[in-house]
Amino acid sequence: MGIELTGINKNFGDFVALSNINLSIPSGEISALLGPSGSGKTTLLRIIAGLETPDSGSVSFFGEDTTWKQIRERKVGFVFQHYALFKHMSVFENIAFGLKVRPRALRPSKEEIREKVFSLLSMVQLESLANRLPNELSGGQKQRVALARALAVEPKVLLLDEPFGALDAKVRQELRRWLRFLHDEIHITSVFVTHDQEEALEVSDNIVILNKGMIEQTGSPEDVYDHPANPFVYSFLGNVNLFHARLDHEGALNLGGAEGSHPDEVSFFVRPHDVSISLSNDDGKGIEARIVDHRLLGNRVRVNVKTLSGGKEIEADIDKKRWNSIKQEGQETIFITFLGAKIYSKDENWSNYVI
Ligand code: ADP
Ligand code: MG
Repeated sequence: MGIELTGINKNFGDFVALSNINLSIPSGEISALLGPSGSGKTTLLRIIAGLETPDSGSVSFFGEDTTWKQIRERKVGFVFQHYALFKHMSVFENIAFGLKVRPRALRPSKEEIREKVFSLLSMVQLESLANRLPNELSGGQKQRVALARALAVEPKVLLLDEPFGALDAKVRQELRRWLRFLHDEIHITSVFVTHDQEEALEVSDNIVILNKGMIEQTGSPEDVYDHPANPFVYSFLGNVNLFHARLDHEGALNLGGAEGSHPDEVSFFVRPHDVSISLSNDDGKGIEARIVDHRLLGNRVRVNVKTLSGGKEIEADIDKKRWNSIKQEGQETIFITFLGAKIYSKDENWSNYVI
């Protein structure tokens, strides 16, 4: 096991920032700390780094207790959202810095440093920019330099706090893929903080979902997306339609039911891409509805429908071709069915519900 956190608590005054965090971060993989702003991600990362001490609990790296070890002894590399490059130093000097400031006995020779820096520059695909100053680089290039600089000292653990947060959407997407690709080559134990669920799903091997200083769920991207442990995780990982509904005696779903008091009432979650729209009700399971609005999103279309009985608004996310064929018919009443859904009932048991 890579990093082991046991019973971590952290308060700032009266405010509970982290509450009883127990977590195993596997070695050689990328783990994402994912959660909304203020959920404690940065605090947890800083505790792993040794920049912050927990009020109680322990941190161990590869089986060794590091709770009270200095940052330097932990051998961690950092990349933050705001590039902390040295402004007056070239790209080369920035990357070489951590090696040059080593005590003489541990310092590599000039030639070794040069070799190391150029191999890192080639890894982050910036060989041609070695002599540039940070203000002559784009945001994405600066973050790649920051990563090369963090890796220069051969840390045992790489910590990244929203490293792509300040970049525009397209560059962010490119860097995500690039980081994933790079990690597949170097396999350094990495912890990646993000509030962006898509980023976590795309980049990481494991996801830790935080909310209000507590862990809601941990698992592979597939695990947490396909089997969200509770309504918070479900809602946080993507768009949802939420209904309060009743199951009648035959187990059929009654969306039109009065909300609030019925003992059989459940919270019913459906992702928009699991809502299908049909022009006919061949199997009799469709819910009658009419289209109230739509919006084109590239090759997808977000369609808002309203059920005829009960007037519930439901959002569907369908393929553009499908939308065009529905639109062509100009039919007033359509039928929706749910391809997959999750039910959260009052006894707090989750189940899959497929209609
Ligand atoms: P995240 O990175 O998930 O956005 P943080 O770990 O930065 O969250 O912060 C969690 C909570 O702890 C926030 O409400 C923040 O205001 C509070 N907090 C963080 N650091 C301090 C501090 N040094 N002093 C007081 N409150 C803090
Ligand atoms: Mg943060």
